[in-house]
Amino acid sequence: MRDAVDVVVVGGGIGGLTAAWELARSGRRVTLVEASDHLGGLVRPLDVGGVIVNRGPEAFAVRRPAVAELCAELGLPTELPAHGSWLVTPAQGAFRAPARAMLGIPADPSSPDVVAAIGEAAARRAALDADLGPTPGSDARDLATLITVRMGEGLLERLVRPLVSAIHGADPSVLPVDSVMPGLRDALRRTGSLAAAVAATLPEGPAVASVTGGMHLLAEALAEAARAHGATLLTRAPVAAIESGSRGRWRVVVAGGTDVPEAHDVVVATSGAATLALLQPHVDTHALRTTTGQPTTHITLLLDAPELDDAPRGSGVIAAEGVPGAKALTHVTAKWDWAARAAGPGRHVIRLSYGRPGQEPPPDSVDTVTDAARLLGTDLRADQVRDSTVVRHAGALVPADPHVRDAVLDLSRTMAGRGLHLAGGLVAGTGLPAVVTRSRSLAPMLGGPASAPAPRAAARPADETVAL
Ligand SMILES: Cc1cc2nc3c(=O)[nH]c(=O)nc-3n(C[C@H](O)[C@H](O)[C@H](O)COP(=O)(O)OP(=O)(O)OC[C@H]3O[C@@H](n4cnc5c(N)ncnc54)[C@H](O)[C@@H]3O)c2cc1C
Repeated sequence: MRDAVDVVVVGGGIGGLTAAWELARSGRRVTLVEASDHLGGLVRPLDVGGVIVNRGPEAFAVRRPAVAELCAELGLPTELPAHGSWLVTPAQGAFRAPARAMLGIPADPSSPDVVAAIGEAAARRAALDADLGPTPGSDARDLATLITVRMGEGLLERLVRPLVSAIHGADPSVLPVDSVMPGLRDALRRTGSLAAAVAATLPEGPAVASVTGGMHLLAEALAEAARAHGATLLTRAPVAAIESGSRGRWRVVVAGGTDVPEAHDVVVATSGAATLALLQPHVDTHALRTTTGQPTTHITLLLDAPELDDAPRGSGVIAAEGVPGAKALTHVTAKWDWAARAAGPGRHVIRLSYGRPGQEPPPDSVDTVTDAARLLGTDLRADQVRDSTVVRHAGALVPADPHVRDAVLDLSRTMAGRGLHLAGGLVAGTGLPAVVTRSRSLAPMLGGPASAPAPRAAARPADETVAL
């Protein structure tokens, strides 16, 4: 057995890497153990015909500043999307998604882009929200009920349902308001209307940003920074168990025998199901069943297609239920200037997403060129494809019911007292800002030396839904 360290971090996704970096720079001796052969977890590069783009997450929400702040501290430039996105529905065809909206809920239901998107009658109904006062819908559990009560079914069906289903892989009728849009309910009660609540919550400008060059650069920079502060990062080290070690320390057991030093504290930053499996011998995890959304298949094409230079559908298209083929298309080289520079003139990267709820995954032979042409409203031919790759993702964690979140937080507090600390999506919530915020909040909670000042992010709750 090697000498003890202060902390072992299990899992080398963005959650684990952020924790390892933060803890190492606060003076702890840190070892991180990652099961796969790469660091970054879901955040990985994808090579399509020599152009490097994102394999999984391609952006981060800017409403919470966590990821932008992290990038700034690591010296990584970020950029905003060059265009807005579009929607395609069977009834309305293709139209621009309203610019000032959150998951399709508009800050101004009467704005021309909302009227163009959902029609005058549905927009008029949505605008009635301003006259309802703060109470109706304010105790709605799920997103679909909130929208129907406040702004009507037209908005739900034409805008919110297609967007939410594509982004969360789940229907708004099963998504708890407080998990998907933390703080929105309070803002509704405070401002008196849902539109005003959205306006108060929305950032100025685009809602997302990307690391220039790809999100994988964030994983690389975190790993480099953690190593620079003395952390040891081990890959191909799947953790089979976390056991009681000697002198009140924890022993992390790696399948295949990699020797990991015992530690006073362990941070578990694996994905939901893996986290529950590792915790199960120590605590009752019965109440913590997690739900994952629909598995998604991404097929990414590199095309010689100068006709796409003028971004016919902006940064991409979300296709509503009933539109055949892919559920979404990202025009990667229109959305991100860094990707356009990497691809070169006249070359375009298009990512098609398949996997609506209840749908079989597409075969590798699916006619992606026809799907892309239909969604982009342009002609494309198979002989324009220079390369293509298929990536099949298991479903992402669906934002959990508030009572499950409460149970996770209770468990997390109990375990923290014993030196086992939760990070990652199970405790933090969905998305990179939540995961990063949670990991950065851990340093003050752990034992061991802490020579560096506590990070700024630790001073506030990990996110609105995680108030530890
Ligand atoms: C297809 C897809 C697209 C997404 N797009 C976005 C987006 O655009 N923006 C956004 O903000 N969020 C997005 N998300 C969500 C985002 O990817 C996650 O919130 C975030 O990456 C989670 O990071 P993590 O470190 O908690 O988990 P992960 O990235 O899952 O990392 C967990 C790590 O733990 C390792 N591990 C598991 N078990 C063990 C074990 N027993 N021993 C050792 N290691 C283990 C895994 O190999 C993995 O590397 C997307 C998710 C998916 C699936």
